[in-house]
Amino acid sequence: MINTEGIVLKQVKTGEDRRIIMLFTEKLGKISAASGTMYHSKSKSSGILHPFTYGKYTLYKGRQIYNINYGDIIKSFYKIGESIEKYAYCSYILEFTERILPENQSDPYLFELLIDFLEIIENRNKKYLPIIRAYEIKSLKHLGIMPQLNECVRCGNKETGVYFSIEEGGLLCNECYGNNTLIFNLNHDTIEVMRYIINNSIKKLEKVSIDDKILDLLNKLMKRYLEYHLGLNNMKSMDFIDTCSISD
Ligand SMILES: [Zn+2]
Repeated sequence: MINTEGIVLKQVKTGEDRRIIMLFTEKLGKISAASGTMYHSKSKSSGILHPFTYGKYTLYKGRQIYNINYGDIIKSFYKIGESIEKYAYCSYILEFTERILPENQSDPYLFELLIDFLEIIENRNKKYLPIIRAYEIKSLKHLGIMPQLNECVRCGNKETGVYFSIEEGGLLCNECYGNNTLIFNLNHDTIEVMRYIINNSIKKLEKVSIDDKILDLLNKLMKRYLEYHLGLNNMKSMDFIDTCSISD
């Protein structure tokens, strides 16, 4: 038996009364877990299987996946479901998190980051995109994927320009900037905002407003970066955001 806190990333219905959830647990990292038939869809306890739910779970390892023996809700983040925008953005972040997390590897930093993110969005009523971008940048930085902003990502030169290499995941210096098709032109303000995001907690960022032009540049950079490195261009949740043409 393992007792751990967890956040439900996804739920799949597999039978009349049976559900399989993708659970981001504090102790085991990302795992798949099946509910017993005891969690009937109409019963009170089915809440512990809903996406966004942050709960306490008692699990035991089955032959292939974990089974949920017991669950208790710590926070359901129900307010996220009350706004289509919040729901869309948070669904995207759950899908993003599911994609970047390896299986069976605990990651307390990302676990905390996701809880902080859901809390912030639940209580926020506009300007969701800066928090989304901050979540992406902070988690990618933590995983060592990007961005290198302190020196040229290719040669280590401390004097960098404003050219961001999508391919290499960081800034280039004036010498290395050349015939590279995957270069994204940033500006100093945007680079400063990215540095601020990396060096401060997501909670602190909540009180900072980001200029629309900087945000627009960040949106474009992240879209291209995630498409190139993580193949995040075929995400259901992202399509949904586009379909609703949500503007922040
Ligand atoms: Zn260089």
